[in-house]
Amino acid sequence: MHVGIVGGGTGGPALALFLARAGHEVTLYERVANPGPVGAGILLQPTGLEVLRRLGLEQRVLSHGARVERLHGTTRSNWVVLDLAYADWRPGAFGLGIQRGAVFGALWDAVLAEPSVRVRTGAEVHATGDEPGAAWIDTGERERFDLVVVASGARSEHRAPGARVTPYPWGALWVVAEADLHPGVLYQRYRDTREMAGILPSGMGTVSLFWSHRADAVEAWRRAPIEDWKARVRALLPEAPLDGVYSHDDVLFAPYFDVVASRWHEGRRAWIGDCAHAMSPQLGQGANLALVDAAVLAGVIERGEPLARYSELRADHLRFYSWASRALTPFFQSSYPVLAPLRDLGSPLFHGWGWYRRQMLGALAGGKTGVFSGDVAF
Ligand SMILES: Cc1cc2nc3c(=O)[nH]c(=O)nc-3n(C[C@H](O)[C@H](O)[C@H](O)COP(=O)(O)OP(=O)(O)OC[C@H]3O[C@@H](n4cnc5c(N)ncnc54)[C@H](O)[C@@H]3O)c2cc1C
Repeated sequence: MHVGIVGGGTGGPALALFLARAGHEVTLYERVANPGPVGAGILLQPTGLEVLRRLGLEQRVLSHGARVERLHGTTRSNWVVLDLAYADWRPGAFGLGIQRGAVFGALWDAVLAEPSVRVRTGAEVHATGDEPGAAWIDTGERERFDLVVVASGARSEHRAPGARVTPYPWGALWVVAEADLHPGVLYQRYRDTREMAGILPSGMGTVSLFWSHRADAVEAWRRAPIEDWKARVRALLPEAPLDGVYSHDDVLFAPYFDVVASRWHEGRRAWIGDCAHAMSPQLGQGANLALVDAAVLAGVIERGEPLARYSELRADHLRFYSWASRALTPFFQSSYPVLAPLRDLGSPLFHGWGWYRRQMLGALAGGKTGVFSGDVAF
C-alpha cells in the first residue's frame, strides 16, 4: 500500500517505521521545516517501551532516559498522598523519564534510515479527505493514497469524525535543568489543588520540573517578575532547580486539551495519537497511547482487516484513560480546593486496600482497558 501520514511527532514516525518494515510505501508530512528535539520530560510507561522495543529502539531510549521506579506525592506538610512502585505491579517493571526530544530523535533517525519512507518536511497539510478508491492529502497540491493516517498532535486542525475538543483550564510550566534530584522517583508536592510542583528525572543528567498553572493566568505570569514565581515554587518545593532560570523565556508553558471521539477512522482515513484523543498528562500516558495506536493500526493493516477494526480494538483502552484522566485531574489541578481533603484522606486509605492499589498500579503502567480489566493486547 501507499500510505500518507500527517505529522512527524511521536505516533506518525512510529507508524511509518512499522509500515515501511512490513513492505509498504510511506509518505510522511511534517509542517516543521527542520524538526528537532523540543519539549520537556515525558514518562514512557511499560506499554510505550514495549512498542519502542518492537521497533528496535529500546536500547537507545534506555540510554537517553532515567529509570523511574516509583511515583511519590506529598502535601506541603509531608502527608503522603501517593506512593506507587512499578515493582508492586510486576517485578522488574519501571517507567522511563526521558526528554520528549530524545524519543523524537530516536524515531526520526530511524525513519530517515528507511528507504521506503519519503519524508516531506516544511509541508503543512491543509486538508485530508476521501474519494472513491483513494484518500488524499492536500498541501497546496493533492496527493492520493490507499490510506491516510492523521497524527498531527493535540493542537491539530484535523480531527476524527465527531471529535469534541475542550481546552482544560489548567496546564503546566516546565523547566529542564541539569540536576540529580529524587533519582528513580517521579516526585510531586501539592498545596490543595491549586499548586502542584513535580520533578521527573529525564535522563542525560537532567530533571524536568513542572508547575501547575492556569492557562488564563499565563499572561499575568509573564508580566510579573520571574523571581516572584521562583519564590512561589521554592516555597512548595525548596529543592526546585531554578538557578538557571533568568527570564520567562527559560520556561515552557504546555496547555492541556481533552479530545473525545467515538471512533478513529472514516473511509480510508484513520487518526492516531493526541489529535485523536488528547488528555491531561495526569496519568502520564500521551506518548504511550500514540505508540500503542501505531502498533495496533499497523497490525490491522498487516492482517488486511477493515479500518473499523482499529477503532474497535482501541476503544476500551482509550476510553478508560480518557475517563480516568478527566476524573483524576481536578483532584490535583483545579480551582476546587475542596477536593484536596478528599484526595489527601481518601488516597492513602484506598492505597492500603490491595485491590485498589493493584488497579492504580495497572493504570499507571498504561495497560488498563476498564476499571475492572487490564492488560491491553497489542
Ligand atoms: C505538559 C505535558 C506533559 C506531558 N507528559 C507526558 C508524559 O508524562 N508521558 C507521556 O507519555 N506523554 C506526555 N505528554 C504528551 C506527549 O508529549 C504527546 O502525547 C505525544 O507526543 C503525542 O504524540 P502525537 O504523535 O500524537 O503528537 P505530537 O508529538 O504532538 O506530533 C504532532 C506532529 O504533527 C505536526 N503537525 C501538526 N499539524 C500538522 C499539519 N497540518 N501538517 C503537517 N504536520 C503537522 C506537528 O508539527 C508535530 O510534529 C505530555 C504533554 C504535555 C503537553
